[in-house]
Amino acid sequence: MQILDGNLVSKALKANIKIEVDNLKIQGVKTPHLAAILVGADGASMTYVGAKEKDCKEVGFDSTVLRFDADISENDLLAEIEKINNNDSIDGLIVQLPLPKHINEKKITETINWKKDVDGFHPMNVGLMFKGLPCYLPATPFGIIKLLEYYQIETAGKSCVVIGRSDIVGKPMSILMLQKNCTVTICHSKTKNLTELTQQADIVIAALGIPEFLKKEMVKEGAIVIDVGISRVNDASSAKGYSLKGDVDFANVSPKCSYITPVPGGVGPMTRVGLMLNTLEAVKRK
Ligand code: NAD
Repeated sequence: MQILDGNLVSKALKANIKIEVDNLKIQGVKTPHLAAILVGADGASMTYVGAKEKDCKEVGFDSTVLRFDADISENDLLAEIEKINNNDSIDGLIVQLPLPKHINEKKITETINWKKDVDGFHPMNVGLMFKGLPCYLPATPFGIIKLLEYYQIETAGKSCVVIGRSDIVGKPMSILMLQKNCTVTICHSKTKNLTELTQQADIVIAALGIPEFLKKEMVKEGAIVIDVGISRVNDASSAKGYSLKGDVDFANVSPKCSYITPVPGGVGPMTRVGLMLNTLEAVKRK
């Protein structure tokens, strides 16, 4: 069994991004600039945006975080997005989700200029991805593809079960694995014979958000398992009072696997690097 080490791979990819950024600066091309919009004071969202700021610093990007109170109106938020759309110094824009209930996330996503949509959520980017054309891929599936490529894992002809069908993980992941020539099955909360399907799969990608859902009886010997899930589970032994759990029962599943991602340290850091790669790409396209 080999661990797919997201920390190690993301570090290597970030070092490459830094070299490219340094070259852009030497050539007098602009420094990539990522803007993030944060609405309200949700703890997890603040942590994620903080991590993105840190990543930008590490690879040499400029970053701007625009913070708004949770009661900002939808119209005012749309106006702020338009300002960034028209600001040539900013190459990529992300709006940290979830947004307060009174704001329509779909409207927000669709207002971001798709050429700056480095999260890859705009319908234009989704359509381009579907057709296999150049676009911004959503960061998590993009990061997972980069991880598989780094370890030179052969995907062609393999059966792949994706558990979860969200717009940000499950659906795009299944399209990208199809483009990697896998035979893909998408499972979701209404799937009846899930265990039967995962037992046959060469690759299982678990993205459902239920801690330790995937048990050892559900995977075959030699399977490749990618664990996207991150859930906070109460843990009195931890100083924080909780620990992070993936969707895979790692202790019991990992001995059966040829490759597996840990949580933390697997998909999470690769998601972060996916966003950095998209932002660099935004400048290169200019
Ligand atoms: P989501 O809640 O939007 O979607 C969950 C999906 O799982 C749904 O499509 C649902 O049909 C499916 N599902 C629910 N219960 C199921 C069951 N019993 N059997 C089969 N399918 C079931 O979640 P999401 O945004 O796609 O995220 C999934 C998980 O991945 C969460 O834990 C989230 O925190 C994590 N996540 C991690 C990263 C990362 O960088 N590591 C990024 C995004 C999401």
